[in-house]
Amino acid sequence: MRRWSRFRAPGKGPPGIGARCGAVLADTIGMRVPVLTYHSNNVVGNDYADNDHVALADDLDRIHAAGIGIVPLSRVVDVRLGVADPVSVENAVALCCDDGSWFDWHDMDHPTCGRQRSFANILRDFARDTGAPVHMTSFVIVSPAARVVLDRTCLVGRGWWTDAWWPDAEREGLIAIESHSWDHNHATLPETVQRDGRRGTFRSIDTHALADAEIRQANDWLDAHVRTPRAGLFAFPYGETNDYLLRDYLPRHAAEHRLRAAFGTDSRPVGFDSDRWNLPRYVCGHHWRSPDALMRLIESRR
Ligand SMILES: [Zn+2]
Repeated sequence: MRRWSRFRAPGKGPPGIGARCGAVLADTIGMRVPVLTYHSNNVVGNDYADNDHVALADDLDRIHAAGIGIVPLSRVVDVRLGVADPVSVENAVALCCDDGSWFDWHDMDHPTCGRQRSFANILRDFARDTGAPVHMTSFVIVSPAARVVLDRTCLVGRGWWTDAWWPDAEREGLIAIESHSWDHNHATLPETVQRDGRRGTFRSIDTHALADAEIRQANDWLDAHVRTPRAGLFAFPYGETNDYLLRDYLPRHAAEHRLRAAFGTDSRPVGFDSDRWNLPRYVCGHHWRSPDALMRLIESRR
């Protein structure tokens, strides 16, 4: 696959072409792509600040009105890794969501907040109304057994966290399915791969055996049940990581885990200087709480 240069002389054609002998390639193509993260399970009311479905729909309108494009998250990674043209992510954001429940895909009757438009239908509405390209990556909790329990402990125990929709999403191509770990090492699970009881954090995934159980095992399952090859992306549960994962397991065991990049939750855009194994993401409700705040955040980081 072609490897794109990060550098080009201004106005001299495609990347890597046009610099005369002796010229200094001083013009670095800027790569500043905000990655916006939503949680479809976040439905507490029906206002922007307490409902990520309302927030996503409003944000899409504002982003489009500002002339900003939406690109697949995998393309952002391709550019960061030097295998896609940086021009393809100029003036764009990428979208993702975490945890992978039915609220991503199905319109749902919430027990207290009423009918909720799924993220998938919000994206389809946007594409129909604007004609603009749109795409989202859903980082899913992979373990079927963990999701059965989380459906009771985090939702209302109606079977709203099955994976039946994941292959459909992959086939349509609107929402890509990627890994958010095997069991999130979630605090409400009676048992996770972390046998010492250090649950509710991903910092405690600090040995090869634990990393393999949370990361490689999840990829094995997704490859067998959803699609292969996928883009090979990972989002750290809680946005948390540690030196073992960043300096040893992820960079040195790629043949085992088969990831190409991982995302945390640092509040900055993805650039060429971003750590491949801890790429930044902004989180709705945490880094911004209104469309105006989102636009200020996007504009200030360009
Ligand atoms: Zn999560």
